[in-house]
Amino acid sequence: MQKAREHRKKLVSAYEVIEVLPCTRDPNRIRLIAKLDHEISDAIPFVALRFPPGKVTYAEREGVLTLNVYDRLITLFPEGKIAMTYTKDLDEAKEIIEEFMDLINEAYEEAVERGKEYAEEYVKRLKSINWMELYKHLPQTNCGECGEQTCAALAMKALQGEAKLSSCKPLLNDPKYAKNLEMLKKKLGPHLCRALSL
Ligand code: SF4
Repeated sequence: MQKAREHRKKLVSAYEVIEVLPCTRDPNRIRLIAKLDHEISDAIPFVALRFPPGKVTYAEREGVLTLNVYDRLITLFPEGKIAMTYTKDLDEAKEIIEEFMDLINEAYEEAVERGKEYAEEYVKRLKSINWMELYKHLPQTNCGECGEQTCAALAMKALQGEAKLSSCKPLLNDPKYAKNLEMLKKKLGPHLCRALSL
């Protein structure tokens, strides 16, 4: 029974590279399009919620997600295509596509459990978050404990996935900021907390 359930939830299990071209950013690299063996529209919003908001461009109406990750742009299309720029070779592409297939399958499990309205609510939050929203919940003392010179710098880097919000120890540990922490967690919700390492 458990096996049947797992099987049902595994959305994609194979792909085919359908187009390879020289990368416009660097002619020694390639850009490519791969086609997965299933459409992925339900999984895409939950994939978006896995990444720091600064890495995500999500065109909700078209259901197209572009991520600025691995030093390249990776775009997921609802019909099951993946486009990837600035890729060394097909071996590297294979590794990344397989990672994304795992991610898509995990996201699909969440989609089955949570449903469309839930995804819409959290995508709305994802789109509304900017560095100022993060900054206003930080202690704003510029103490430097997180390794950044200012709280604003931590907020900007966290949004881009270049720093963890959890590196602000005063926010996590000082009772003075307990309310800030509580409000920030509530505002972000569990997905964005995970994506921003809080
Ligand atoms: S540790 Fe927190 S309070 Fe200190 S500078 Fe970093 S973000 Fe600001």
